[in-house]
Amino acid sequence: MSTCIFCKIATREIPAKVVYEDDRVLAFEDTNPKAPVHVLIIPRRHIASLNDPVDDPALLGHLLAVGGQVAKEMKVDETGFRIVINTNADAGQTVFHLHVHVLGGRVLGWPPG
Ligand code: AMP
Ligand code: ZN
Repeated sequence: MSTCIFCKIATREIPAKVVYEDDRVLAFEDTNPKAPVHVLIIPRRHIASLNDPVDDPALLGHLLAVGGQVAKEMKVDETGFRIVINTNADAGQTVFHLHVHVLGGRVLGWPPG
């Protein structure tokens, strides 16, 4: 999608601090981090949110698996980390290109706000 900021990050039109990439997904640091470790993982192709029909469940699985890998890479696997997918307004979704947040490096409150 030509107007989507995360599509532009995926094609490298907009710069990002990329920490992992492969043919299906890209992981990069959040510019407004909510924890010492805050990485976003996106599918390369545009999917607006989990409200879209899931035509590729393996891609969703891959996003989570990469989340675990990134947490290890960022050395928060042993202390703990959280994977979050905000969906729509009440959950605080602001960018409508599906993304997985990986948060860690501090104690994360529960339940989330
Ligand atoms: P959400 O509120 O779940 O839609 O998350 C969107 C996230 O994208 C927020 O945490 C923003 O800080 C982050 N964000 C927005 N624009 C950029 C960008 N250009 N590069 C990296 N992270 C971004
Ligand atoms: Zn997009």
